[in-house]
Amino acid sequence: MPSFHPPLRTLMGPGPSDVHPRVLAAMAQPTIGHLDPAFVGLMDDIKDLLRRAFKTRNAVTFPVSGPGSVGMEACFVNLVEPGDTVIVCRNGVFGGRMKENVERCGASAVVIDDPWTRAVDPQRLEDALKAHPQARIVAFVMAETSTGALSDARTLVDIAHRHGALAIVDAVTALGGVELDVDAWDIDAIYSGTQKCLSCPPGLAPVSFNERALAKVRARKTPVHSWFLDLNLVLGYWAGEARRSYHHTAPINALYGLHEALVMLHEEGLEAAWARHALHHRALRAGAEALGLELLGADGERLPQLNVIGIPPGIDDARVRQTLLADFDLEIGAGLGEFAGKAWRVGLMGQSASRRHVLTCLVALASALAAQGRTVNREAALAAEQAIYG
Ligand SMILES: *Cc1c(COP(=O)(O)O)cnc(C)c1O
Repeated sequence: MPSFHPPLRTLMGPGPSDVHPRVLAAMAQPTIGHLDPAFVGLMDDIKDLLRRAFKTRNAVTFPVSGPGSVGMEACFVNLVEPGDTVIVCRNGVFGGRMKENVERCGASAVVIDDPWTRAVDPQRLEDALKAHPQARIVAFVMAETSTGALSDARTLVDIAHRHGALAIVDAVTALGGVELDVDAWDIDAIYSGTQKCLSCPPGLAPVSFNERALAKVRARKTPVHSWFLDLNLVLGYWAGEARRSYHHTAPINALYGLHEALVMLHEEGLEAAWARHALHHRALRAGAEALGLELLGADGERLPQLNVIGIPPGIDDARVRQTLLADFDLEIGAGLGEFAGKAWRVGLMGQSASRRHVLTCLVALASALAAQGRTVNREAALAAEQAIYG
């Protein structure tokens, strides 16, 4: 059996995003023990770097071992008890997974649906909380990767608190790509992933819990049904100050990578990273529109890091994506759920938010559309992106 050599791709899907060689080099360093004093020092640095990325002072801020979905489970299994009522705001696929989590915790989910591509409607959350005063938790996806919608986390958390509920926020795609301020917005529990705007390989889920959330975990009447994700246990490893006890073997080299990616994020500056995502989104949008393509979504609610582009009638979705991959080594995302076959999802996440990526995508799309007989004006698209960059 020969070794595996992956092709060199340009990743512009909904994650993973392109990983910087600095992060890959960090991950190739020698593996050490997960209780080695040097490793314990690295863990403290990672917690510190994550607090800065989330803009929080929460002591309980660390990466759960596992992909973003495990971060989601960690929040739900710890905070939700059997018999609880949880309001789930659903405006895409990932909100649907939140509902699944709630129900598997033995709680009942009150789902409020918003149209796909639209942000969660604060008024409907308010109404749902009035109609279900027993609800103790509100959950929503800040950056819906299936629809490209950005919701107003600050307002939604405020509403939850005014009704005595805690807020669980999915920031898997949000973190590092758009403004997020866990402490100023008073978010109770939040989870993310590494392979979106942090530009790490997948496999870790940064989470953060405030005191209010921890109090709810401590007040549980029933033990957390997941041994692996029980905060009370896992914190013996991640938060044990003087001595850390074995809980599970941390993914050592993956954590080297996360550390380096966070160092890079802070070298650039959080605000600068958000502005970079916004800039390249504007250029991609201008270029795509000049190609006669339409970005779905409503003004002020579009994610810069995940662009949902309608597939024009008569265009073969799968063939376009095959052409991009075969001829340009470019990966973009297919539509998910309601958007399967109807839209593409073009990611500008982390290292994939650059002018090189925008240009590659516009040129490749122009070529793939022309190959299917559609008249496209490539020069107009390039002029439009150039006008944004000035
Ligand atoms: C990608 C994603 C997830 C799941 O993350 P995985 O790493 O694939 O498990 C959850 N929520 C949102 C909004 C995502 O974009």
